[in-house]
Amino acid sequence: MKMIKFPNKKITFDSFLCGTPAGDYIYQDTDYKKQVRDAAAMIRNAEYVLIGAGAGMSTAAGAQYGGKFFEENFGEFQKKYGKGPYMQDMYYAGFYPFPDEESYWGYWSKQALLGGINLDVTPLHKLLLAALSDKKLFVLSTNADAQFVKAGLSEQKIFCTQGDYFHIQCGRGCHDKTYDAVELFHQMDQARTDCKIPSSMVPKCPVCGGPMDMNLRKDSFFVQDDAWYEAEERFSDFLSDAIDKKLVLLELGVGFNTPTIIRFPFEKLVREHDQISLIRLNLDQAVVPKSFGSRAVGINADMAESIKDIAECCTLNE
Ligand SMILES: [Zn+2]
Repeated sequence: MKMIKFPNKKITFDSFLCGTPAGDYIYQDTDYKKQVRDAAAMIRNAEYVLIGAGAGMSTAAGAQYGGKFFEENFGEFQKKYGKGPYMQDMYYAGFYPFPDEESYWGYWSKQALLGGINLDVTPLHKLLLAALSDKKLFVLSTNADAQFVKAGLSEQKIFCTQGDYFHIQCGRGCHDKTYDAVELFHQMDQARTDCKIPSSMVPKCPVCGGPMDMNLRKDSFFVQDDAWYEAEERFSDFLSDAIDKKLVLLELGVGFNTPTIIRFPFEKLVREHDQISLIRLNLDQAVVPKSFGSRAVGINADMAESIKDIAECCTLNE
């Protein structure tokens, strides 16, 4: 693995911290239109753009997880297992203690299809990629739904750190390989009765014979296969190139569920490199460190709107 070069400098308490002390976080009181213009100017002036995409990006693009969508698509699961604390949306339902593997895959095959494999909410992703077409671009994503790739981004330019809905792995992580399960999930979907799949379809680990699981980082057995390490290497190459150039970090819908992969490291990069700036788009958590001054724009608004407005502003001023 290539090391990312950081200039030698004195380690202060601020640079030691990987997050931002709460007192430094502010909602900027700048007018929305000026924020959009500032963000567009940052992008125009940048040579490199690193997108950090969290769950809020998929939601803004139209992906649904709970509410009416869940009732309509997972009604039979709610009826069988009771709504309780789990059968509320596609996040919590994944943690339901399913009684057997037939029931487990009966549920997960459906979530994989609706949450990723069959999901097509790419117009917003396409619009964003078009606005950034002349930039050196890389996407760091914690989303499992592959919408950026469906929208046309090269797989060489994305690092999905948390796995995806398209692959399965040994449930105990006994070997570092993942298996394409798209066809299997379609077959399970056809064969599902009473929320269960037939026993003959339950996948078994080809090495240890134990149960398989989704290749999602939801427990300590998450498998990082060759493709994962290759993507990590490409990310590291991109950041090593960009770190002393004009780089904009474009953070899209990253909240505080997993702030350690995008949000906090982005803040660390801005703190340690004067020429790096941050655009943080979030529906209600667009707080930014006050100490970043004009090097950060935090737009607290419907992200679908702010992405459109920034993209438009980028084109108008070309
Ligand atoms: Zn195994």
